[in-house]
Amino acid sequence: MALLQILKDGDELLRKTSRPVEEITPRITTLLDDMVETMREANGCGLAAPQVGVLRRVVVVECSPGKVYELINPVIVATKGKQNEIEGCLSIPGKNGITERPMYVTVEALDRNGKKKRYKGEGLLARAFCHEIDHLDGILFTDKALHMLTPEELKEYYEEE
Ligand code: ZN
Repeated sequence: MALLQILKDGDELLRKTSRPVEEITPRITTLLDDMVETMREANGCGLAAPQVGVLRRVVVVECSPGKVYELINPVIVATKGKQNEIEGCLSIPGKNGITERPMYVTVEALDRNGKKKRYKGEGLLARAFCHEIDHLDGILFTDKALHMLTPEELKEYYEEE
């Protein structure tokens, strides 16, 4: 496995639309492994392939330690409710904002064996699914943020935790 370089906001690759994976080759499974390692190293709870410069519809999410979702060609097929919570992004270090996301989402994706799976996410997991899938269409959370947090607000937020 290898650590990949995470592109930062301003890199034009982050604004491109990623192409679907047509065939799950060893290159794709290696990409999944490397993305999980890179996400963990960066203390993130999700990473999308375009963030490491690969314009393919591939996402990894790990909101609770050990529970890894590997999503190939993910599609959100249902949503319910809403939540306004703080969001950040490994490609936009040091910035956080409030975004509105569904409280529940259902995602359909292929796993690394090419099997179609359905996953349900609630709360943070729902948010992570939406955030990472947005990356595949060149959308960053700052595009959707209702409000970006000031350094003072951010400090207050973490003190309340
Ligand atoms: Zn992100």
